[in-house]
Amino acid sequence: FVQVLMVVGGGRVVVIGGGIAGVTVASALSSAGHLDVILLEASDRLGGRIRSGNLRTPSWNASASIFPDELGATWIHGRKGNPLYELATRTHLIQRTDPPQKWTLPEIVSSSNQSISSAIVGDVFIAFYEWMDIASTESSLTSNAKQFSSVGEFLDAQFELECAELHLNETEKKLRESIFERCKRLECSICGCDSLEQLKLSEFFEYDQLDDQHTRLPMPFKAIVDFIAEPIPHENIFLNTLVSKIEMISDETSSSVVVSARSETDEESEFHADYVVSTVSLGVLKERAASLFHPPLPQYKMNAIKAQGFGVVDKILVYFNDTLPESLPKSCIYLSSAAESRHKWLLDYAPFVSKRDNHTVEMWISGEAARESELQSIPQLTETVQLYLNLAWKSYLASDSQCPKLSAIERSMWQSNPLTRGSYSFNAVGSCGEDFEKLAEPILCPISQRPCILFAGEATHRAFYSTTTGAHLSGEREAKRILRDLGKREP
Ligand SMILES: Cc1cc2nc3c(=O)[nH]c(=O)nc-3n(C[C@H](O)[C@H](O)[C@H](O)COP(=O)(O)OP(=O)(O)OC[C@H]3O[C@@H](n4cnc5c(N)ncnc54)[C@H](O)[C@@H]3O)c2cc1C
Repeated sequence: FVQVLMVVGGGRVVVIGGGIAGVTVASALSSAGHLDVILLEASDRLGGRIRSGNLRTPSWNASASIFPDELGATWIHGRKGNPLYELATRTHLIQRTDPPQKWTLPEIVSSSNQSISSAIVGDVFIAFYEWMDIASTESSLTSNAKQFSSVGEFLDAQFELECAELHLNETEKKLRESIFERCKRLECSICGCDSLEQLKLSEFFEYDQLDDQHTRLPMPFKAIVDFIAEPIPHENIFLNTLVSKIEMISDETSSSVVVSARSETDEESEFHADYVVSTVSLGVLKERAASLFHPPLPQYKMNAIKAQGFGVVDKILVYFNDTLPESLPKSCIYLSSAAESRHKWLLDYAPFVSKRDNHTVEMWISGEAARESELQSIPQLTETVQLYLNLAWKSYLASDSQCPKLSAIERSMWQSNPLTRGSYSFNAVGSCGEDFEKLAEPILCPISQRPCILFAGEATHRAFYSTTTGAHLSGEREAKRILRDLGKREP
């Protein structure tokens, strides 16, 4: 039994995906009076990669002095010129007086029970971020630097140069190297790649950091999505509706697009539309574009899907019933000389641990370690995280006291999730910035040459890829494209 649903009216639009990009398209078109817009979302909620933790968020309240727990997007990156920041302040989700996020230098402790001198940690971090600034500023990259294809190779060369200039002995160099490697790893969990060798150097500057002021919402990030979604009539939002096929059907005079979807109860539906906007992640496209689109997407688009980078970054939120001592550092990295053990994947990775409040710490992990963490059951992960924190605690406090027993753990699984297949995109060696634009290019109707399958989502924005800002702007872009096209149509 196939239920056939027509989206009524002149401009019939089906939006696939209820992340911030899809919600933005559907909202903008609904506000413009095109109420024949429907939104199909495979999961049971809107937000996509904007997702709060389940443990504390339901009881979170505005008077709490802590920020809500986020498993996905957390900060609005950049204030000046950022439409999401503007939206959040206009709607009083954020006050302009709320301070931007402050970055604190992590304490680094090692298994030799010693805290590494903060002066050395500071030196390495400062140098690292100076080199990152050079890498991300087109005018600072000398022709000599441009010989490196990746950000990682460029940084390694700078590090070697600096060590030579400082005339370091082997032990001093090794110590700095271990801190330098942590800086690189931390940056991987910001850029979303497995290693900085994957990040293309010559176009690294294209990512727009705006004014580099990062703002955390004092409520679940999804409040922004809910606000944007307000103009979409509830009956036009279909949750638990997994799209399995997007088919363009043309005859000699016209074409339309048929979207096949399956509901939670396995009921098959077909949605006929003039415009379909796909906002599924680049990870989903990498896995399923070949079977999702009929006829197949053009080769240039398939090449861009394959070439562009899409990595994995996961968060582990760790809760304690006991109150953590004030004396613990705000953020810390523990370097172990790990022997072979089943916990080695986390000990070797040495995640950046930040203390969120007196009962919670948060860990960011990326690449192989993130994929490994997703394979662990909750009891296995709990055991490994507890061990890591016990060791860090002992080294930092250099005392016999024990790290409290953790009471609960919550983690994201962005790679295993079939609706994301990773966390966010990056400009990879072997691809180019133009690929983000190729991902955004619509498929035209062969007869009218008008756009009929359109693409939005963070990986379709050349300057703000990987962010909620990019996803939101891409949604606005595609809504405008449809409205422009509708304006051109015969009445
Ligand atoms: C750990 C992590 C931390 C992050 N931190 C930040 C941050 O601090 N600041 C920031 O700006 N950004 C951050 N991001 C990135 C940000 O979350 C994303 O860029 C943004 O949310 C992407 O939105 P989107 O609409 O493009 O895609 P998505 O949110 O992925 O939306 C796509 C939707 O499509 C649905 N879907 C997939 N397949 C189908 C199908 N076949 N049928 C129907 N529906 C389907 C999915 O369920 C999903 O809801 C972070 C992301 C992660 C994972």
